[in-house]
Amino acid sequence: MPPKQKTIALMGFRSVGKSSVTIQFVENHFVDSYDPTIENTFQKNLKVGGQEYTLQVIDTAGQDEYSILPQSYFVNIDGYVLVYSVNSRKSFEVVKCVYDKLLDMKGNSKNCPVVLVGNKNDLTNDREVTTAEGKKQAEEWKVAFLETSAKEHQSVTEVFNRIIQAIERAEGNEPEK
Ligand code: GDP
Ligand code: MG
Repeated sequence: MPPKQKTIALMGFRSVGKSSVTIQFVENHFVDSYDPTIENTFQKNLKVGGQEYTLQVIDTAGQDEYSILPQSYFVNIDGYVLVYSVNSRKSFEVVKCVYDKLLDMKGNSKNCPVVLVGNKNDLTNDREVTTAEGKKQAEEWKVAFLETSAKEHQSVTEVFNRIIQAIERAEGNEPEK
C-alpha cells in the first residue's frame, strides 16, 4: 500500500510548546528556544496500524481568544492537535476558544478530528490545570486527550498516532490499534 498523505495542524496559545512538540516528533530533539512567530510545515513518515503515512505537520504561530482563523486552516487540513500547557490556565481557556471557532467553521465535530494535548507535563510544581480537567473537556468534545512533555519526549509520538486514528474514524475507517 502506498503511504497515505495527511495534513495536521498544531494550534493553541503562544508558548505552550507547539513548536517543541512538533520538533521533538519530527527530529527527536528538544529545542529550547524557537522563533515563536514563524509558521512552519514539517514532513514526517509514521506507521499506524500497519499503514504508512506521510504527514505534513503545520506548526502554527499560535492563536489567542481574539484570533480570526484564516481560511487556510479549514481547507486541506485533515486533523487538529489543540495544545495548551498544564502550567497555564489561560492557555486552557484559549484552546477552548480555538475549538469553538474550528467547529463553527467545520459545521460539526464529525468533520473535525481533534486531539487535545496538555503539554509541559514535567512542570509538576507549576501546574494550573489538572489532568481531570483536561480529561473532562476532551470527554465533552468526544476527542482523545493526552498529557505530554516535549522536553522529556513523553507521549509525543502518541499524539500523532491518536490524530491519525481520529482522522481515519472521521473518514469512516476503523484503524487497527
Ligand atoms: P510555541 O509558542 O507554542 O511554539 O512554544 P515553544 O515550542 O516555542 O515553547 C515555548 C517555551 O516552552 C520554550 O522555552 C520551550 O523550551 C518550553 N517548552 C516547550 N515544551 C516544554 C515541555 O514539555 N516542558 C517544559 N518544561 N518546557 C517546554
Ligand atoms: Mg512555535
